[in-house]
Amino acid sequence: ILEVRNLAKAFGAFQVLEDVAFQVQKGEIVGLLGPNGSGKSTLLNIISGFIAPDKGTVMLDGRDVTSVPTFRIVNEGLARTFQLPIMPQKMSVLEVAMAADTTMHGVLPTLFRGAGFCKAERDTRERAMQLLDELLLTRVMHLPASAISGGQKKLLGIVCALMARPRLLMLDEPTAGVHPNLRQDIVRALHRLNDQGMTLVIVEHDMHFIREACNRCIVLDQGHIVASCKPEELASNERVVQAYLGAS
Ligand code: ATP
Ligand code: MG
Repeated sequence: ILEVRNLAKAFGAFQVLEDVAFQVQKGEIVGLLGPNGSGKSTLLNIISGFIAPDKGTVMLDGRDVTSVPTFRIVNEGLARTFQLPIMPQKMSVLEVAMAADTTMHGVLPTLFRGAGFCKAERDTRERAMQLLDELLLTRVMHLPASAISGGQKKLLGIVCALMARPRLLMLDEPTAGVHPNLRQDIVRALHRLNDQGMTLVIVEHDMHFIREACNRCIVLDQGHIVASCKPEELASNERVVQAYLGAS
């Protein structure tokens, strides 16, 4: 479903990614691991069209989507969450979730003018409420999205990504700052989506989460891919151990 070829990105003199290439098959749940600053978020930002690479291509289902901007790539079936979500000031949690439904983009202006509800709006509202409920956000759904807690923003980010019904979902540290009790719920929700055919790429530091959630891991270190293996093989992979011990 996803093929990244020969990707490179530098910020000034600092080479963040170099010659990064990998594929993700439809139906996989891939964990993207690596030390802080190894380039994971930058890689997600490039794949999702948030920043442009210096070199290389991103193919989604055989189509070249390199540098297709994030707001458009979502219509191609790719949604992502952000490591540090930023929420609009003036919209409620429920409105933010509803606005993320790509089928609603034509109808939304009427929604916010308080015009009569059409069926599409009702369906969108129902879906949003159900996802908010699954991620324990019902209680805050009428608050301004900018006013909820950091962990709740993270969860709202996941709700928004799911509202877009992507074929490929990329999550940037979905459990960081989230209560451990909820991590299990997130894993379950992700597996359920995967059973329904969604492919996932998940940036994570939590090894327990990785082992529970992922079928394969890609490990980045200093902008290079140093391993692609099953989660249970990580501990015996010399290059991975080296990367994590900072000995490389
Ligand atoms: P973490 O696990 O801490 O989230 P990461 O692997 O996601 O780390 P990135 O956010 O991709 O790391 O950053 C990789 C490197 O690129 C870092 O050293 C960072 O300082 C640098 N970097 C990222 N974005 C920019 C930018 N816009 N301008 C300059 N440097 C940047
Ligand atoms: Mg990051």
